[in-house]
Amino acid sequence: MGGMKQVGILREEEKQTAITLGELKVMGVGVFCWCNRCRHTATLTTSELLVEMTPDFPVPEVGPRLICSDCGSKDIATRPAWPFLGAGTLH
Ligand SMILES: [Zn+2]
Repeated sequence: MGGMKQVGILREEEKQTAITLGELKVMGVGVFCWCNRCRHTATLTTSELLVEMTPDFPVPEVGPRLICSDCGSKDIATRPAWPFLGAGTLH
């Protein structure tokens, strides 16, 4: 018989989508942005974003607040600019 320790399992994806600007700032990680229309990409620092946004602002919601500097589109996607890709743990 096994125990009942099935709680506490968090999906890494959910942890990532819920991450905030404040958390990235603590880790020294920027925000990677790309335009879905012209594929322009840029990496913004949290210091830049925190001028207009609060530390508890979720990173995935930053995109709709941005405008592409190349084509003016508002169809911007954002995610943490991890210095490593594909790593599983975020401590
Ligand atoms: Zn663009």
